[in-house]
Amino acid sequence: MAAPEKQNTNGPTDTSSPLKHRPDAAECRIRTCFDSATWMKKFGKTKSTDNSSKPTSGSSNVIEQSGSSSHNDCPLDKDELGRNTWGFLHTMAAYYPDNPSKNEQEDMKKMMHIFSKFYPCEYCAEDFQQSIKRDEPDTRNQYSFSQWMCRMHNEVNVKLGKAKFDCSRVNERWRDGWNDGSCD
Ligand SMILES: Cc1cc2nc3c(=O)[nH]c(=O)nc-3n(C[C@H](O)[C@H](O)[C@H](O)COP(=O)(O)OP(=O)(O)OC[C@H]3O[C@@H](n4cnc5c(N)ncnc54)[C@H](O)[C@@H]3O)c2cc1C
Repeated sequence: MAAPEKQNTNGPTDTSSPLKHRPDAAECRIRTCFDSATWMKKFGKTKSTDNSSKPTSGSSNVIEQSGSSSHNDCPLDKDELGRNTWGFLHTMAAYYPDNPSKNEQEDMKKMMHIFSKFYPCEYCAEDFQQSIKRDEPDTRNQYSFSQWMCRMHNEVNVKLGKAKFDCSRVNERWRDGWNDGSCD
């Protein structure tokens, strides 16, 4: 589901997802369910003049942008979290063994199932759980696992109206660098 507006009707006593134990279970009210602009519109605070509890901003964590400044050390929004997480997941798949042991194959499957329960954007996590039920993690080797990850990501891309990534190029993107040498 692409829109963050979905209401969770299961209530706080539902134990099917670890995320639902949180007090915000009735409606997702955490940053990782929204892009920054939507988050600020819905829940943003008016800037306080009292900065006494904040770290001083003479640090490199403040980015100057055309007259205004913004921090690069704020909590992640949905899209930042998504980009960083896909980077981790594809890179993990890129360096997964070519000949994994049975234990490694099982461990990676378990990891993906556990990941899908704890991913901190509730509706993203719920959809991802459905996806990996339909198409179980293929952990037989590096090629099959990277292709599986690419399919999972493409499901989200399609849901969000984005173009599908060409999965035949997934190792160029995440392991070897593009064939034209632009990453060398
Ligand atoms: C498990 C998971 C579920 C998510 N579910 C949702 C959701 O339900 N709703 C929502 O709004 N957002 C969701 N997101 C976030 C969303 O997928 C994007 O990360 C976010 O919208 C930022 O998109 P982006 O255009 O910056 O690039 P991203 O989609 O984050 O992609 C980053 C880079 O990965 C590469 N790439 C793109 N597609 C593929 C692929 N198929 N295989 C390999 N590499 C690829 C491209 O080079 C791209 O620049 C989810 C994220 C994750 C990790």
